[in-house]
Amino acid sequence: MTTPRPPLKSLDDALAQLLACATVLAEQESVSTFDADGRVLAQDLVSALQVPALDNSAMDGYAVRCADVLHAQAQLDGVLPVSQRIAAGTEGTVLAPLSAARIFTGAPVPPGADAVVMQEDCEVLQHPDGAAVRFKVVPAPGLNIRRAGEDVTLGAVVLSKGELLTPAALGLAASIGMNFLPVVRRPRVALFSTGDELVMPGDVPPAQMKPGAIYNSNRFFLRALLLRLGCEVSDLGVVPDRLDATVQALQGAAHHHDLILTSGGVSVGEEDHIRPAVQSLGTLDLWQIAIKPGKPFAYGRVQQAHFIGLPGNPVSSFVTFLLLVRPFLLKLQGVQQFAPESIAAPAHFTCAKADKRREFLRVRRNAAGGLDLFPNQSSGVLTSAVWGDGLVDHPPGHTIAHGDLVRFIPFSELLG
Ligand code: AMP
Ligand code: MG
Repeated sequence: MTTPRPPLKSLDDALAQLLACATVLAEQESVSTFDADGRVLAQDLVSALQVPALDNSAMDGYAVRCADVLHAQAQLDGVLPVSQRIAAGTEGTVLAPLSAARIFTGAPVPPGADAVVMQEDCEVLQHPDGAAVRFKVVPAPGLNIRRAGEDVTLGAVVLSKGELLTPAALGLAASIGMNFLPVVRRPRVALFSTGDELVMPGDVPPAQMKPGAIYNSNRFFLRALLLRLGCEVSDLGVVPDRLDATVQALQGAAHHHDLILTSGGVSVGEEDHIRPAVQSLGTLDLWQIAIKPGKPFAYGRVQQAHFIGLPGNPVSSFVTFLLLVRPFLLKLQGVQQFAPESIAAPAHFTCAKADKRREFLRVRRNAAGGLDLFPNQSSGVLTSAVWGDGLVDHPPGHTIAHGDLVRFIPFSELLG
């Protein structure tokens, strides 16, 4: 009598298990701010100055005392003499009473001035004693002045430990004078493909491909996804479909890597050697999850390295990477916020098929604000992942009628 298999693990449970195993890498390094895009900050960044350092002008125009302009409007035909000129990078002097200072964007507002009138609201006059300006408006105090510290105050934490650095974050770090940043070291990932049918593009031209041979596509997107997540990738090529070769490959990779990532060979057929190989070298802690595509997903340990086995079918491999490997690698680098934001959007399709597994459908936003479904949802059809711009999270046993609001996760939330 065979005992029935327990139900497959849910995606949420599998993710929680994976994250619990992802201990943050302890080592950090200092990298040039130029090279820190996509890296994870290892310490809080505290500002040693305020930004902007001084009150400065938001416009090209004239710095004034508002009361002086009011007075000029009443008694001087709106005209004030220009008493100084302040360009960005220079510093003015105290604004002389009943005068205006020519000022340019970013230049410090001179002491005494309380507003900047933009030059479009002024008329330049040639006065016998030098330049003068006629104001067409009376400014309110504070007009067009960017206040000292309005961006960053002295001592503020501008970026926190665990933050994934974006181009804008690099700019912000530079604005407080940081030319090097402390970041968590890159995870070292060994990448393998498995499958005797795999051929590298370039090795055999399409016309000479033997029957049954296919090009290795997973290797290309997995490598690219890993690089986007800040990993150092050792691409260790294709492992033949033999147990001894699989054991040897895993063993060799375990020493120098934080993670061994494989694709294929993790299902239930006799040609699937990944599971027994991992079990012979370490532990297999998770195998198969209740999602579609992507059921044959595996997690374990091979010596001190983490092991993740992705399914061979390209879409399964791609989707499970986005849903499980991405958060795992971000957590490994100390990122705390990596859950993708989903959006409620109307389905412009129907999906009657109720599956016991949670499905992730490849869809694309249309001009009407709805979602179109790629017609072929097969796990082998990689076109769906290129045509689509995201996934619909389709709960088990659910049906989707035209117009129903569904949970849409844009790929932009899952790539990097
Ligand atoms: P497997 O999980 O090894 O049984 O593979 C499932 C399916 O995915 C088979 O049709 C394989 O040929 C295909 N496959 C496996 N690895 C790759 C790969 N690296 N690139 C493209 N297709 C693959
Ligand atoms: Mg295979």
